[in-house]
Amino acid sequence: MAEDSTFAIDRALRQELESWQRAGLSHLPMPPRRPPAANPSSASVKPPTTRTPPSSRSNSRMTAPAATQFTSRPITSPQAHTLPVVSDPLPASPHAVGSLEDRQWRLNELRQRVAACIRCQELANARTQTVFGVGNPEARFLFIGEAPGADEDAQGEPFVGAAGQLLNKIIAACGLKREDIYICNILRCRPPGNRKPLPEEAGNCREWLDGQIAIVDPEFIVCWGATAAQNLMGTEESIGRLRGRSFQHGRATVLCTYHPSYLLRNPAAKKDVWEDMKLFLKQAGLPVPV
Ligand code: SF4
Repeated sequence: MAEDSTFAIDRALRQELESWQRAGLSHLPMPPRRPPAANPSSASVKPPTTRTPPSSRSNSRMTAPAATQFTSRPITSPQAHTLPVVSDPLPASPHAVGSLEDRQWRLNELRQRVAACIRCQELANARTQTVFGVGNPEARFLFIGEAPGADEDAQGEPFVGAAGQLLNKIIAACGLKREDIYICNILRCRPPGNRKPLPEEAGNCREWLDGQIAIVDPEFIVCWGATAAQNLMGTEESIGRLRGRSFQHGRATVLCTYHPSYLLRNPAAKKDVWEDMKLFLKQAGLPVPV
């Protein structure tokens, strides 16, 4: 009888969560975990702390909280694929909140968690290494791609293969340097055969993406390709319909364009990407090359 009632509660809870998910809820705010009462000495999890942001920062943007809880709510067309996996918030760093050192410290903490992540068994078993992200920890611009390919898996850095070389050219054409940007992917492990990330894999990896976004706290996010755009914003709209528009994700403005690997297969689409880059530069207040 007790088992029947437990099963019924489980089923009702699952149905409720699934209905929220269908309604577009992608993340649930999670309180910090409490240590087991029976063993207080095992409490290694610190509750999130709120510290006063520094009075100034190199780019005068708002600062992220000291202990980052990686919850994030897409604002536009939410259509979440999976409920999130959320682990303990990072502890506060020993550095001034929002400083370069603070961001580097927290990204490094996050990187270590990602390196040990085995949420996607197939990917974890096949990877050479995790591909966390690279770039300026206090960048105004954060680029999101799809997933590591063979080159990225081998080198441990996103966008280093042929598509990465093309991305570098696009960045240079915009008058920017790769070091001006923070670059990461929807997934941090290479899908076998470079297949598209599965929805559950993107859901598994979402916490790490949200963490990177929260720490870098960019003003602009550029989604390269449908996988990046759809997963970040929880939409099923095509990349063709998403590009040319801007969206809001937290405080960041989001723009979408084609993935460089698509441009390698379809060079005619380069002119579309260039139009998207001009929109990006204009919105960022940067000179737009003619
Ligand atoms: S893809 Fe992301 S969530 Fe999946 S195993 Fe790799 S790091 Fe973990």
